[in-house]
Amino acid sequence: MPELPEVETVRRGIEERVVGRLITQVEVGRERSVRRVGRETVIHGLTGVTMLNARRRGKYLLCDLDSGDEVMIHLRMSGRVLVEPAGTERPPHTHVVLTLAARDGVVDEMWFVDPRTFGEVVVFDPTCTAEVLPELARLGPDPITDEFNAEVLAKQLKGKRGALKPLLLNQHVVAGVGNIYADEVLHRSRLRWDRTADSLSRKQIALLATSIVEILTEAIEAGGSTLVDTQYVDIEGNVGSFQENHRVYGRVGQGCLTCGKTSIRKVVVAGRSTSFCPRCQK
Ligand SMILES: [Zn+2]
Repeated sequence: MPELPEVETVRRGIEERVVGRLITQVEVGRERSVRRVGRETVIHGLTGVTMLNARRRGKYLLCDLDSGDEVMIHLRMSGRVLVEPAGTERPPHTHVVLTLAARDGVVDEMWFVDPRTFGEVVVFDPTCTAEVLPELARLGPDPITDEFNAEVLAKQLKGKRGALKPLLLNQHVVAGVGNIYADEVLHRSRLRWDRTADSLSRKQIALLATSIVEILTEAIEAGGSTLVDTQYVDIEGNVGSFQENHRVYGRVGQGCLTCGKTSIRKVVVAGRSTSFCPRCQK
């Protein structure tokens, strides 16, 4: 499942390849990908307009359009955004296609590909954001922006019950962290998944905040993590390489790279697999 670093990599790709190009034609195959506002709204809202920018909040991609509308893209479990020259054979599960005016003599297409169809493309009037995308208002701070630091994290965790891992996955606490990066962050913070928020010292919260920022930043620099099962690729179809730097995720049974003294263990927490080092993380 794409998390903040993967979505940020896609955002950069959209910025480079799609922003500023007139969308000349829009095709919607699978209605489910545009379920929130419907096929007609997406086709009419995107035809003949230009994306002015590509922004991101947590795992949400948001682009302002020169019509005054906005488009939101969420990749959810298996969504991908790809740009290829028009005429290239489209992969299976290509549900939305935007034809982009020629640049350097080449007409391209932006594809929204999504085998599991949990992802979405939504076109909306930003004055109606609260009605169309009510979840945006509830998103927690985005960790790689100025709105995030140790003090902010302490405030977000204050009074929260339960184990740390589900809290990190909760998009209302921090926006953009998913299963892979939560495990990596907890390992770097030397905290076990089942520590409670109220058991953390100020110093531990500060280390947790720093680890969140560091891990996500390093992962963005590596173009995200590509796992066999999620098949995440960037807009050009390139795989990410941060999986090579994972210390716990996907390393169950292998030796801990941090302490070198024990193996990485796995437990299932709230239906999600959690990898950790029982020696490093307390
Ligand atoms: Zn260890």
